[in-house]
Amino acid sequence: MTSAPPAVDDVPGGPDGHAAERSALVREIESEVRATSQDLGKCALDPRVIAALDQVLRHEFVPEDLRELAYLDRPLPIGHDQTISQPYIVAIMTDLLALPPGARVLEVGTGSGYQAAVLATLGAEVYSVEIVEPLGLQVKALLGKLGYANVHVRIGDGYAGWPEAAPFDGIIVTAAAPAVPPPLIEQLRPGGRMVIPLKDQRFGQNLVLIEKDAAGGISQREVLPVVFVPLTGGR
Ligand code: SAH
Repeated sequence: MTSAPPAVDDVPGGPDGHAAERSALVREIESEVRATSQDLGKCALDPRVIAALDQVLRHEFVPEDLRELAYLDRPLPIGHDQTISQPYIVAIMTDLLALPPGARVLEVGTGSGYQAAVLATLGAEVYSVEIVEPLGLQVKALLGKLGYANVHVRIGDGYAGWPEAAPFDGIIVTAAAPAVPPPLIEQLRPGGRMVIPLKDQRFGQNLVLIEKDAAGGISQREVLPVVFVPLTGGR
């Protein structure tokens, strides 16, 4: 007697009706990582990052009328002139943080909450700041409903970081800034990493990886060109 093949939904995160689409998206991200391996300096992402992407129910983080597009590798509008980032970008930003187990992470720009959910699924304690109040309140409720107890959302200007929760092993900024906000550098733990889209001299943006060494020295490298909404706020 042969046993029945596993159901399509029989994977972590399922059964939710979208497991097959999610796996296909993950394969697409993996192939895009191979295509951009020169920029990334690697051909494959950390398997833990891949597993987290396979688990998080992305359709829960997009507006109801766009759910059928949730597993396409593209950003989508989430209202308030904001977007949920493209899955490939979420994947590489998460991977670039190279988080140790049980890491403490600061996110600036909660947006849909999807990036925070991916980080939380990796086992991180996530402190996320969102400047648009209705969006922040909405996502707080959603993350609570979905059971993400290790994501803390605050409404405010993320330029200032979250000093009471610092230092952070990783800081991820998901809106483009003209320069790295100094409070964020201060709140990065020695040995920690920050990923941030920075505006360049012309009209473009680059994803930048910043590392703070054990002695507090800072180094940075441009990873690849990206497109993010601007970091707003007072400064
Ligand atoms: N990480 C998000 C994508 C966010 S889009 C996701 O996974 O969906 C960028 C977000 O940054 C928007 O929600 C925007 O309102 C927010 N933002 C812009 N400037 C900010 C600031 N100064 N402080 C906190 N959030 C900010």
